[in-house]
Amino acid sequence: MKRYVTLEEISDGKLYTSNDMVKADCLGCKGCSKCCHAMGDTILLDPYDIWRFQKGLGKNANELLAEGKIAMRVVDGVILLHIQMAPCGEGEECCPFLDGEGWCTIHAHRPGLCRLFPLGRYYEDDGFKYFLQKSECDHPKAKVKISKWLEEPDLPRHEAFVFTWHGILKEAERLQEESGDDAFARNLNLFLLKTFYLAPYAPQEGFYEQFERRLAAYRKIVSA
Ligand code: SF4
Ligand code: SF4
Repeated sequence: MKRYVTLEEISDGKLYTSNDMVKADCLGCKGCSKCCHAMGDTILLDPYDIWRFQKGLGKNANELLAEGKIAMRVVDGVILLHIQMAPCGEGEECCPFLDGEGWCTIHAHRPGLCRLFPLGRYYEDDGFKYFLQKSECDHPKAKVKISKWLEEPDLPRHEAFVFTWHGILKEAERLQEESGDDAFARNLNLFLLKTFYLAPYAPQEGFYEQFERRLAAYRKIVSA
């Protein structure tokens, strides 16, 4: 999702790699659940999140859509899935996975953006770096190595996936702009949606192998 702000406006102005130490550890949040409230449609999901849901919750994207826990929105011309906030008190909205005590009920399987927070990603031509969002979380924090904070079993492979997925979304946006054809845009979006989100993943099989196969199908379509 594009953000029309400068890095200095939203961060401490520094860019980090996963080997860097950064003051991002919210020390268990200690009763705070601010970033699980009133997030609108900003908690976007990627295909890895869907695989993790399927593995951890036993539910695929179609089932979570039917339950209203996730929903679709168009971001930069491409249909993406996101967590759907739900009413949770007078005039309040919160994540449907948050319990009444303020705990995440799917902590081990929560989406990548929740695991990343309060860090963000800054994309460059040949990869991405991390930045620390400065005004999103005012809880006291400790320094932590980013690779530890992210808790990814295979971080290099995960980072490669994140960058590839970002590239697919950018390319899909560009292809639609270049074609200027509504039918092409609709078909491309439906293909992306079905291929990367809605076709159920095999939870017992690794994510990256399944993603590679779907990526090959996408490459075939866009190069035809
Ligand atoms: S705002 Fe910070 S402390 Fe509060 S729940 Fe989010 S990450 Fe934790
Ligand atoms: S999935 Fe968990 S961590 Fe993420 S917004 Fe929902 S309750 Fe919060």
